[in-house]
Amino acid sequence: MNIHEYQAKELLAKFGVPVPAGYAAMSAEEAVAAMKKLPGPLYVVKAQIHAGGRGKGKFKELPPEAKGGVRLAKTEQEVREAANEMLGNTLVTVQTGEAGKQVQRLYITDGVDIEKEFYLALLVNRATGRISFVASTEGGMDIETVAHDSPEKIHTIDVDPATGFMPHHGRSVAAALELEGDLAKQAAKVASTLYAAFLGTDAAQIEINPLAVTGDKQLMVLDAKVGFDSNAMFRHKDLAELRDLTEEDPMEIEASKYDLAYIKLDGDIGCMVNGAGLAMATMDIIKLNGMFPANFLDVGGGANTEKVTAAFKIILSDPAVKGILVNIFGGIMKCDVIAEGIVAAAKEVNLSVPLVVRLEGTNVQQGKDILANSGLPIVPANDLGDAAQKIVAEVKKAA
Ligand code: ADP
Ligand code: MG
Repeated sequence: MNIHEYQAKELLAKFGVPVPAGYAAMSAEEAVAAMKKLPGPLYVVKAQIHAGGRGKGKFKELPPEAKGGVRLAKTEQEVREAANEMLGNTLVTVQTGEAGKQVQRLYITDGVDIEKEFYLALLVNRATGRISFVASTEGGMDIETVAHDSPEKIHTIDVDPATGFMPHHGRSVAAALELEGDLAKQAAKVASTLYAAFLGTDAAQIEINPLAVTGDKQLMVLDAKVGFDSNAMFRHKDLAELRDLTEEDPMEIEASKYDLAYIKLDGDIGCMVNGAGLAMATMDIIKLNGMFPANFLDVGGGANTEKVTAAFKIILSDPAVKGILVNIFGGIMKCDVIAEGIVAAAKEVNLSVPLVVRLEGTNVQQGKDILANSGLPIVPANDLGDAAQKIVAEVKKAA
């Protein structure tokens, strides 16, 4: 689960991370009111979307020479103009894809006199199984380019979970940023506070880009991207409230209401599977047979008729879906119960595309009988390979 920059900064500030003052705004009036609470003389009006690269982004509705999603302003008039130009318009950045994202919130923050920009992130390092700092003197710009062109400028510092954050980790971060004296001390403090925030919130990622040195030699977090481990959100009701549903795929939101693990993909074949491993295998075998999955969908171990119906509706609401492959292993749930669910769901949603069903497990024969006697054009399959070949053939036949 990701949150907006202004929410991330409020959260990090509570842990003691230095951030400039700022306020969120939903309208030009609120933007001006926010500006009046700040000391000035420089203000920054920032589009709040769940994507980076806003500074260099372009608005679809504005001429190409118009400024991007991070704008400096000196007067009330400039703040108002920036807010009016951004709100309701679609910002396209390197991270949003071509469709872009509509700007519905702004953040009005203190303009900082920047001397130097660094990159500092905390993430779960899958290679070492540890939480790692990623630090670079090359901040402000797109870190992927730095990683590609000059990988030696990116330093990774692992933290052993047995010791937790130690003073030497702070010194290593400061050294990676080539800081000395008081700034090195500040960097070590920022690193230790970020680590505490990471653990304390069950974060999956904290990315600060830029971490800036100001004209009066203070380290400041000017941009923060924070994401949490969604599976831990039940432990953080306050953080769960920061979720902005307008930033998420509507079908994925619908799926989460029914506790279905659903991820939209680009292919033609809708998949309904129980168990993440089986879901992955199903997607692979569709690909092996020359087509692509339209989604990942794990209905979970205890799928009932309600869940199966919801899953069908979600798959069918995707106009790209040309056929559905159901691949269910009846373990905790018996095959006959699943088959009844599939039949009821297929009737309720008025199935309009070919449906291939492969069932295996407890009461499989009863399950198959229910499907065969349903009067619906359900194509039965015996194993995974057979199922994938059949759905691809059915879709090609229907085309
Ligand atoms: P994004 O990464 O989405 O482009 P940032 O928040 O990093 O957005 O802003 C882009 C650039 O704008 C920063 O690298 C920095 O140079 C400048 N900037 C951002 N916030 C401030 C601020 N509060 N004061 C001065 N400059 C800022
Ligand atoms: Mg940034």
